[in-house]
Amino acid sequence: MEHFDVVIIGAGPAGACAGAMLSKAGKTVLCVEKQHFPRFSIGESLLPHCMQFLADAGLETALQQQAAAHGFQFKNGAAFLKNDFRTAFDFTDKFSPGPGTTFQVKRAAFDKILADAAAEQGLQIRYGVTVEQVDVSGAAQALLNVSDDNGRQYQLSAGFVLDASGFGRVFPKLLQLEQASDFPVRQASFCHIRDNITDPRFDRNKILITVHSSLADVWFWLIPFSDGTASLGVVGKQQRFDASQSAADNLWQHVQQTPELAQLLAQSEPVNEAQSLTGYAANVRTLYGNRFALLGNAGEFLDPVFSSGVTIALRSAAMAVPLVLRQLNGEQPDWETEYSKPLRRGIDTFRIFVTAWYDGRFQDVIFSRQRQAKVTAMISSILAGYAWDQANPYVAEPERRLNVLRELCLDAE
Ligand code: FAD
Repeated sequence: MEHFDVVIIGAGPAGACAGAMLSKAGKTVLCVEKQHFPRFSIGESLLPHCMQFLADAGLETALQQQAAAHGFQFKNGAAFLKNDFRTAFDFTDKFSPGPGTTFQVKRAAFDKILADAAAEQGLQIRYGVTVEQVDVSGAAQALLNVSDDNGRQYQLSAGFVLDASGFGRVFPKLLQLEQASDFPVRQASFCHIRDNITDPRFDRNKILITVHSSLADVWFWLIPFSDGTASLGVVGKQQRFDASQSAADNLWQHVQQTPELAQLLAQSEPVNEAQSLTGYAANVRTLYGNRFALLGNAGEFLDPVFSSGVTIALRSAAMAVPLVLRQLNGEQPDWETEYSKPLRRGIDTFRIFVTAWYDGRFQDVIFSRQRQAKVTAMISSILAGYAWDQANPYVAEPERRLNVLRELCLDAE
């Protein structure tokens, strides 16, 4: 049986980031990834906060160097459209310190760039290897049963296991850690398009979030890339979609019901087959246990509306790695107070804003004509991913502050 200091399940952003950091620290790290890269993944709009973690893990240079070749688009904010009302947030005006710009990426290429850069730092990655069983009951090491593409089965042992398996949710499923999300079951239908947009009001440096013309809880993302293509998706409760129709029909029917967006996309053509994802919101009872911790989507996933998924994944990796190193060094970190609670605090900030987006309170703020520069900077910070910055009053007291701000916006209208 092969032994490693750390085995990581999954070579997505969380796994690559954690693997690079642990390898740089001199640990023997194996990442097992069931697919072969490049492979499609959803989650294409990054937030500026995540650039900090990519830099710390030594992965940012590779991203910057290869961005243009892969059509990654410079991103400096988020634009919103509801009927004929347009508004935007520029992340470089944000309240919190840290990077203010990032990229919109094609995940097949992005994930491969990160994984290759992590491998250059010493991370061993085995593609086409699936984790089937885990045993974390041992005092000295964790055991994993894996199988490869040729059907070969073998066992690995590790001082620590990081589950970065994303929607694969390996540990939550195998160790019965799953807990229902408090969000309703929603669906997303999406595809890539050649957008052919000529409207000068469309800013390619920003993701465009459009609210459906008559269904306030249905929204679209339009994530432009630098090569003239874009990612287009619609999100809503599952019952808003017709199960008897294709993903493409569901997507384009909703677009047609939203005239401003339909007009913007009048000349666009799909460049790949549309697909749908349903019921992606997920949670777990615990983010850690004996010799293991959950990173990124293997833990909790909220909702795509604020593009927070990759940022949470990278932040979780950056928070877990120092604790793993201490544990391998014989210390006993307190995973509850040093990892789970502080990580969940930021996720909970996003949760409050996501909830308020769907019940309309945050939309009242976003689409208000009243803007105060200081408050806008604080909201911009959260939209840029800085949901852990307790110096921001909208992070420290999100629910109360948001409700007060919404009242002020409504009074001023
Ligand atoms: P992943 O990127 O999912 O990587 C996990 C890896 O683990 C995969 O490569 C998988 O093959 C591997 N794996 C799974 N099971 C096993 C196994 N048994 N053995 C070995 N390997 C395994 N996020 C954003 O930041 N911006 C967005 O714009 C955005 N849009 C989204 C839109 C939708 C509709 C959805 C559903 C999500 C969106 N997200 C977005 C979220 C984003 O997709 C995820 O948060 C992000 O990919 C999580 O990264 P990760 O590293 O945790 O997992």
